[in-house]
Amino acid sequence: MSWVVMSPHLDDAVLSLGAWIAAQIRSGEEVKVATVFSEGGAGHARRRREDEAALEALGASAIHLGYLDAPFRSGFYTTFARITSGWREEEDRLIEEVRDSIHAIKPAQLVCPLAVGGHVDHRVVHAASLAAAAPDDLLFYEDLPYAWIAGATALRLAELGFAHEQRPLPPLEHVRASFLEEGYVRSYLAPVDCPAVLEDLGKSWATANHRPDCARAEPVALGEITTEDRANQLTAVASYASQLDDLFPPEGRFEPIFTRAEDRPLWRLP
Ligand SMILES: [Zn+2]
Repeated sequence: MSWVVMSPHLDDAVLSLGAWIAAQIRSGEEVKVATVFSEGGAGHARRRREDEAALEALGASAIHLGYLDAPFRSGFYTTFARITSGWREEEDRLIEEVRDSIHAIKPAQLVCPLAVGGHVDHRVVHAASLAAAAPDDLLFYEDLPYAWIAGATALRLAELGFAHEQRPLPPLEHVRASFLEEGYVRSYLAPVDCPAVLEDLGKSWATANHRPDCARAEPVALGEITTEDRANQLTAVASYASQLDDLFPPEGRFEPIFTRAEDRPLWRLP
């Protein structure tokens, strides 16, 4: 089998699915990781090199599609709230362009982000993947570190119109506390924006909790993941040195977090 894993940024696929990618390669399958938003500021040349090193460590190949990261394609995306819940009309056209880029890769099997956490670039890649592939050829992964926030995957599935086994959701206070503890939130959410972002989170939670029952998203087990696959993921994650301090503050120590974390399933959406 030949897999293409869609990665919004230069790190998402490996953070979310690195051990699974290592397992596919160990079983003799081919994996390409296509990063959509691989261009931006001066730091992106380094980030592309980090990505090539990470994927080489896993035995996967890297494709960089060359689109501009949100804050670099528009001055609109300047705050955490705008990046995680804003949307410009221009993104609709961007979805079509990314869909065409996916067609050009001709994936046999496509794995793409659920866009847990709501980053606009993740939502664009999610929508473009849905437009590019038949439902039977499409699996979704939970975006990490976003999906480590309590209830975050269930909130995203509800937003997409799907039920989830985690119903009712964890209490709102628990969801908010878990959100505020997550490393990337501590790095990127400015204190001045915090009350509005927490209020939005409360609204999404209330909407998700009171949705009528709808089609159920199906978790798909990852298959066998060995100790060596997990070790390969950690080696690959370490390659993204420029990102680690912000994602895992204060010192970028990601190993204990990954070692403690439970495996997340892949998802099939009906
Ligand atoms: Zn990302």
